[in-house]
Amino acid sequence: MRSLSWKLAGALLLIVLVSVGLMAYLTNLSTTREFRQYVITGNMMYASGVGDSLGSFYSRQGSWNGVQAVLPGLLRMGNERLIVADGHGVVVGDTDGTALGNTVSRLGLTGYGTPVSVSGQEVGTFYVLYSGGRAGGMMGMMAGRPFTSGTATAEADFLGRVNRSLWITGAVAAAVALLAGLFLTRQITSPIRALTRGARELSRGNLAYRVRVKSRDEVGELVQSFNNMAASLTASEQQRRRMTADIAHELRTPLTIIEGTAEGMLDGVFAPGREHFTTIKEQTALLTRLIGDLRDLSLAEAGQLRLELSPVDVAGLVRNKIEQVRLVARDRGISIKFEAAGDLPPVEIDYMRIEQVMANLLTNAIHHTPSGGSVTVALKAVPPSGDDRGGILIMVEDTGEGIPPEHLGHIFERFYRVSDSRARAEGGTGLGLAIVKHLVAAHGGRVWAESEPGTGSRFHVRLPMKAASQNAPLLP
Ligand code: ADP
Repeated sequence: MRSLSWKLAGALLLIVLVSVGLMAYLTNLSTTREFRQYVITGNMMYASGVGDSLGSFYSRQGSWNGVQAVLPGLLRMGNERLIVADGHGVVVGDTDGTALGNTVSRLGLTGYGTPVSVSGQEVGTFYVLYSGGRAGGMMGMMAGRPFTSGTATAEADFLGRVNRSLWITGAVAAAVALLAGLFLTRQITSPIRALTRGARELSRGNLAYRVRVKSRDEVGELVQSFNNMAASLTASEQQRRRMTADIAHELRTPLTIIEGTAEGMLDGVFAPGREHFTTIKEQTALLTRLIGDLRDLSLAEAGQLRLELSPVDVAGLVRNKIEQVRLVARDRGISIKFEAAGDLPPVEIDYMRIEQVMANLLTNAIHHTPSGGSVTVALKAVPPSGDDRGGILIMVEDTGEGIPPEHLGHIFERFYRVSDSRARAEGGTGLGLAIVKHLVAAHGGRVWAESEPGTGSRFHVRLPMKAASQNAPLLP
């Protein structure tokens, strides 16, 4: 954790240093250029002013006599020296005074001067020299083109000051970046540390552990997602335990009956008879059904039901299924009616799975309808609307005892039975509707029930034109 803080603070520091360095470099570059340009322009204007003054001096005097006295008045800054030579190159004025009487060629100034003209005639030359140039000693100024070294001292001074302020700013910014970096990373890393602690607790089996959410930013969202994950882990763990308990309970009932019957016969409590063997056979059949249903349900819940999709004429499928159960219904004195509204389009479904759905719904309807009652199966197309591509609606309606409203919301839960003893007597596993719900959902469809106790129940299955391709796990 500490290394992350330092990494982040280091990155901030590096950014500050690089930007301050880059800024210093670019400022130096542009300041040098601008400063030079400024000095050059100033020098040129100065030189032209000196030339004018010397020219008017000469035209007033008719010679260079007395020029030495006026030269100091023409100086601009302390580090300049002004030399004036006459038409023969002999120095007639020098602000330092040391070159008077010398020749320009001996001073090594030939070619660096600016001519002074009066009425179109060249009467002399003047030289502006700077001290403290980078080359050391005196540097000259060519006619109209001053040596850049003339600017060197002032420029170096100015740049030095600019650089100093830049580096001071840089150092302050770096210190602030370091502090801000450490503070910020602490803000970021403390929830990460809390999350690590949370993950450790969860892996130890403490599923009730939750991380406290303090911020509303991305880290806060991460903490929230972590807590949601922990909550769903808790829910699925509870569900797993409940399911194991349910299964154990469901298996125990038929096993107890089988064991009791067998023991009764073995101990001579009752003589082995047909009805006892029938009981054993029925309970074994119930166990087999239970195990088959559990297998289907666990596959569906894990999202591993593989659907073999093909275009199916649902009306044909339903008619077939009705024919299969018609005999059982007739034995119980129940009539089955089938209504299909017009021409129904083929729907892309898994034939076997939807057949299983119909078998469950029809068996339930027959089991819960008294003799003399009827079961009606109706089919109709659902036209497309908006995003909905339409599909088909199957309705299974009976004139049975109905389902009390307090139970209606639970009948699709696994092992839920409205009347426990009666359902068991009928051989129900309590898993039929839970399986129906998962099979329909795996197709991207929906199943729901309506009922009026004493009048009957109506189950609706809505299937889309094309089954949803994904088969996501579904929690009941
Ligand atoms: P089972 O396999 O025991 O029938 P189901 O999951 O199919 O279990 O049904 C759950 C409960 O819903 C049943 O115990 C029953 O009481 C009730 N039920 C289902 N279908 C009907 C129906 N058509 N009429 C009345 N009750 C029904």
